[in-house]
Amino acid sequence: VRIIVLGSGAGGGVPQWNCACAGCEAARNGYIPPRSEACVAIAAGDGGPGEPWLLLGAPATAATLVARHPAIRPRPNGRSRIGAILLCNGDLDQTLGLLSLREGDSLHVLSTEAVKRGFLDENRLARTLERSPDQLRWRAVAPGERLACLAFELAALAVPGKVPLHLGDTVSPSAEDNVAWTVRCNGKLVAFAPSVAAPTPAVSGLLDEADVVFFDGTFWFADELRRAGRGERGARDMGHWPLGGPEGSLEALERARGRRILVHINNTNPVLLPDSAERSLVERAGVEVAHDGMEIVA
Ligand SMILES: [Zn+2]
Repeated sequence: VRIIVLGSGAGGGVPQWNCACAGCEAARNGYIPPRSEACVAIAAGDGGPGEPWLLLGAPATAATLVARHPAIRPRPNGRSRIGAILLCNGDLDQTLGLLSLREGDSLHVLSTEAVKRGFLDENRLARTLERSPDQLRWRAVAPGERLACLAFELAALAVPGKVPLHLGDTVSPSAEDNVAWTVRCNGKLVAFAPSVAAPTPAVSGLLDEADVVFFDGTFWFADELRRAGRGERGARDMGHWPLGGPEGSLEALERARGRRILVHINNTNPVLLPDSAERSLVERAGVEVAHDGMEIVA
């Protein structure tokens, strides 16, 4: 199984256009690499010319990220190598890229019914994906259901999350609002969990079982945005379990078996800075910090 991290940042990436926190400034000054919003590509084999790729997450820059990676170049007949796109939730950093992937290829999207409805209902821009009858094939998947797709066995696992900001109080929260995806293939289990608001038995099970898990590295502190002077919203209200502290996710990740890789890392998170105390704690726990272009063979 070949895995490429195309994007490792949270919403807005690093540097974020309107932010001058330590992480954003470090990225602007070339001290740390810039990060696009979270997006991971997986191929069942070595990702050679005949193989399709799964795309986990469709951030606004998805088309650019795919276009510039040589391993995902289009086939000679001009068809895309993206065999399916898996969405965890309806946040814009998961879905906006569907509109950027509009140039006439057929897209096969998988998400829960709630995420599908949230994107397609009352969204005029979604009609840009109706250029031909088969341009958009969107399969709604029930949490827990196992399905075959390309060379993979996929499952969406309900994990604590939230309704996307733009849907606000127009829909009722449900267990379908946010999932982690598991991708089984060639005896390996890869998990993609960029948004996990809190621990649950299902999250523990995922951490026990996965050979490689991409896990929510959005925030270190529960009140990180307030500390950075960027608003009052807390990490958990935004659907993210912070890494640090006695109840933090790093403790759970430290106990996990496989490779644990932080993804969806917000620009305010001190783990982005290589000389921070928080980065040392992460490394001591045996946990990796994803960067754009990171490649893994499992
Ligand atoms: Zn910043």
